[in-house]
Amino acid sequence: MTFDQLNLIEPILKALKKEGYTNPTPIQQQSIPVVLEGRDLLGCAQTGTGKTAAFAIPILQLLAQDAAAARGYKHIRALILTPTRELAVQIDESFESYGRYLGLKHDVIFGGVSQHTQTLALRNGTDVLIATPGRLLDLMQQGYIYLDHLEMFVLDEADRMLDMGFINDIKKVIRELPSDRQTLFFSATMPPVIAQLANSLLYQPVEVTV
Ligand code: AMP
Repeated sequence: MTFDQLNLIEPILKALKKEGYTNPTPIQQQSIPVVLEGRDLLGCAQTGTGKTAAFAIPILQLLAQDAAAARGYKHIRALILTPTRELAVQIDESFESYGRYLGLKHDVIFGGVSQHTQTLALRNGTDVLIATPGRLLDLMQQGYIYLDHLEMFVLDEADRMLDMGFINDIKKVIRELPSDRQTLFFSATMPPVIAQLANSLLYQPVEVTV
């Protein structure tokens, strides 16, 4: 299979070509159509399988196709929650690469550095926010970030979030999200607590395992 068969818009196909990608990985083949349909997704996949592009590509496409509706607003439309700074930066770079011809704005926030540059960047709004849980909660509590118009939510590496003690932070964030949203949930393993969390977050999800 090639990316041409996935009903992707021209600016995204062009960006993928520039990246040197021709064939979608298994997780991408299975996830991209599901996300484009607007369905919730439960993805069992590890880093290295191409899971970042599996969510970033269809999110960019959905946001780009519906850009007119959101133009002029400063709402955050998609939130990607990931456990570490390294992952957050990688995901941000993926949105930059695959979205280079789209003109959507994306920003990344993480702890361990001054918040000033991050809050400054967020002042004019952003379409896609990539965040680690602690810094996100912190900036939400300070009133820099509102998620009440969020359309898409990704929880990345849920099992690692649990191991790192982020579960309560995540639950606090989730309470602030609109219930009418599309949710994509990724975890390499599905222990009972994670399955329970997934169950509480997802509406009739399609399950993809690679
Ligand atoms: P990830 O699992 O998202 O961390 O991606 C693993 C690596 O595979 C990253 O370096 C991506 O740039 C690369 N990658 C993702 N999808 C593809 C693809 N369809 N073709 C070639 N490389 C890819």
